[in-house]
Amino acid sequence: MFVARTVEDLQKTILDWKLQEHSIGFVPTMGFLHEGHLELIRSSQNICSKTVVSIFVNPAQFNDPEDYRKYPIDNEGDLKKCETSGVDLVFLPEKEVMYPNLEGNITLTQIDLQRNLCGRTRPGHFEGVMLIVSKLFHLVSPNKAFFGLKDFQQFRIIEDMVTLLNFPIEIHGVPTLRESDGLAMSSRNARLSSKERETASLIPRMFALAQRLIENGEQHPQTFTEILGDFLLSSASIKIDYIEAVHPRSLQIANDLKSDFLLAIAVFVGNTRLIDNQILKSKNL
Ligand code: AMP
Repeated sequence: MFVARTVEDLQKTILDWKLQEHSIGFVPTMGFLHEGHLELIRSSQNICSKTVVSIFVNPAQFNDPEDYRKYPIDNEGDLKKCETSGVDLVFLPEKEVMYPNLEGNITLTQIDLQRNLCGRTRPGHFEGVMLIVSKLFHLVSPNKAFFGLKDFQQFRIIEDMVTLLNFPIEIHGVPTLRESDGLAMSSRNARLSSKERETASLIPRMFALAQRLIENGEQHPQTFTEILGDFLLSSASIKIDYIEAVHPRSLQIANDLKSDFLLAIAVFVGNTRLIDNQILKSKNL
C-alpha cells in the first residue's frame, strides 16, 4: 500500500495507474475509520481496480471550533485498517498541503439543497465539504467516488455538484452500516460515555416508531415529527437539533406524508452531535 503525504507523491502513483488504464475508486474520509468506512472501501474494490482513501479532518467544514479540536484522530490505526482491507493508496495530507494560505478564497454553495437539515443548522458546513471534495476530486481524479448515505444531504449535494461542475466522476451512495442495536456507525460514537451510548439507542428506536406511525396512517409532518421529538426527549441528555421530513431528492420540507420521504435527524447526546436518516415508504392510503 502506498501512503502519499504530498500532492506530488499522490499524483505520481495516480498517473502511473492511469497509463495502465486502471479504474480508480475514491473514498474520502476524515479518518478514525470504522466498519462503515470499510464498507465504502469494499464497494469501491467491487467495481474498481485501484482504491484510494483520503484521510483529512477538514477544518473548513466545522462550524464549531471545539468540535474540530475534539475530532478523534488515529492515523496509525487507520493505516493498519486500510492495509488489511487491501487499499492501494492512502492520501494523508497535512493541513498546509490542502490549504496553502488560500483558505476561504473560493466558496461553493448549493442554495436549494442546503435550505434544510444540516444546511440550516450548520451554516458554512456544506461550503467546506464542497470545497474539500472538489479539491480532492481534482487531485485524485478518480473514475468513481463513494459516499455514505448516512450523510444523505452531503451525498445529494456532491451528486449535484459533480453534474453542475462537470466532474467526470460517477458518484455512488453506500447504505449505512449500523451497530447491533441499530445505531449508525460514526467516528463520533467514540466520544459517547457508556451512559450516553445507552441513550443513543433511542435513535434507532425512534426510527422504528416512525415506521409504525406511517403504517398506522399518520399523514401530517408536524404531528409526526412532534411525536418523534417527544419520544427522544424522554431522555434528559438528548437535545434535538432537528427532526425533519423532506422530499428524498429535492430535500425540501414534505407537505404531507403521502409519498415516500426522507426522515432525517440530528441530535446532541451530551455534547456529541449524531445524525441519521431513513427513507420511509408511505402507506399510499
Ligand atoms: P467521515 O469520515 O465521517 O467524514 O465519513 C467518510 C465517509 O464515510 C462519508 O461518505 C460518510 O457518509 C461515510 N460513512 C460514515 N459513517 C458511515 C456508516 N455508518 N455507514 C456507511 N458509510 C458511512
